[in-house]
This record gives sequence, C-alpha cells and structure tokens, in this order.
Amino acid sequence: MTARPADIVLVRGDITEQRVDVIVNAANSSLLGGGGVDGAIHRRGGPAILEDCRRLRASHYGKGLATGQAVATTAGLLHAGHVIHTVGPVWSREEDRAALLTSCYEQSLALARELGAETIAFPAISTGVYRWPLDNGADLAIAAARAHGGPTLKEIRFVLFDETAYRAFERALRG
Ligand code: ADP
Repeated sequence: MTARPADIVLVRGDITEQRVDVIVNAANSSLLGGGGVDGAIHRRGGPAILEDCRRLRASHYGKGLATGQAVATTAGLLHAGHVIHTVGPVWSREEDRAALLTSCYEQSLALARELGAETIAFPAISTGVYRWPLDNGADLAIAAARAHGGPTLKEIRFVLFDETAYRAFERALRG
C-alpha cells in the first residue's frame, strides 16, 4: 500500500472555529499572548492555554520559544486536541529569513505527527503584524505542506482570514 499525501485544503474564515486535531498559533517568542491569531486563540481557548504556556516558560523555555520552532499545549476550549505554537520571523528587506518561516511549518507538521494528529489547521504565519509578503508566505506554506505532509496526516488546512490571503494561497496551490 502506498501512503497518500495529505490533502491541502483552503478555507476562508477564523482559525479558532476549526474542528481539527491541531490548531497552529502564530505566536511570539514570549508565548504569553499577543494580537492577531494569537489573541484570538487565547480569547476563544480560555485560560488553560496560557497556563500551559506559563508552565513551558517556567521549565524548558525560560528564554521563550526561538523563531522557527514549535511547541504544543492543550487547546483549552477550542475544538481541537492541541494548539501548536510557532514563532514566525518578522519580515526583513535586508536579511533572507525564508528558512525560518519554512521551519515553522515543518516543525509544526513534525510535532503534529508525533502527537498522532490526522488534521491540522494553519494560519498564514508571519503575514500579519510581522509583515511577510502574502504571496511569498503562501508559496512557502504550500511548499512545506507538499514536502512534509505525509504519511499519517490526512488534511492540512490553511485558514485564511480575508479574501486577499485566500487568493494568495489559491494561486500558490495552483502553482
Ligand atoms: P504574525 O505576527 O505571525 O504576522 P498575525 O496574527 O498578526 O501573526 O497574522 C497572521 C495572519 O493571520 C494574518 O494574515 C492575519 O490576517 C491572520 N489572522 C488574524 N486573525 C485570524 C484568525 N482569527 N483566524 C485566521 N487567521 C487570522
């Protein structure tokens, strides 16, 4: 039997409303909450997620989570088994940080597999407050999903908050 690659699915909507095994959070290195997706996940997920994040800071992640890395917590009240927090790079004109953004997707997918997840939902990491250009962010996200989707993951869902982000991912998926 040959393993099927994961289905890559695009959804326009709010990531906190998804029913999946893993919801990925575009966190910041403090792990203690922020705006955008991060704020929405903590608001909808309730205090249990922040409690887990505080425990991580008090143990293995005293200095916070490095850019490009990923760590899992409870999903609290969200309709998911876990939240995986990953820290995207801030966009820079001077420095090529694409490998770090790819690493966010790769590490999150690897961790999701370790957790036994079959379905995972991603936001468009770094494309908000961190100003990563949407088209390139979408290309990197889709490439990582294609390269690292198998074998146990069945669905990799990208949840795009607005029409512009949705179109960028649609174009990347066609390419
Ligand atoms: P970053 O700091 O990594 O740029 P942001 O949360 O500011 O993270 O934005 C990442 C992307 O997530 C942006 O494209 C933003 O429009 C989108 N976004 C914001 N809130 C939500 C949400 N509730 N669900 C899905 N995507 C969201």
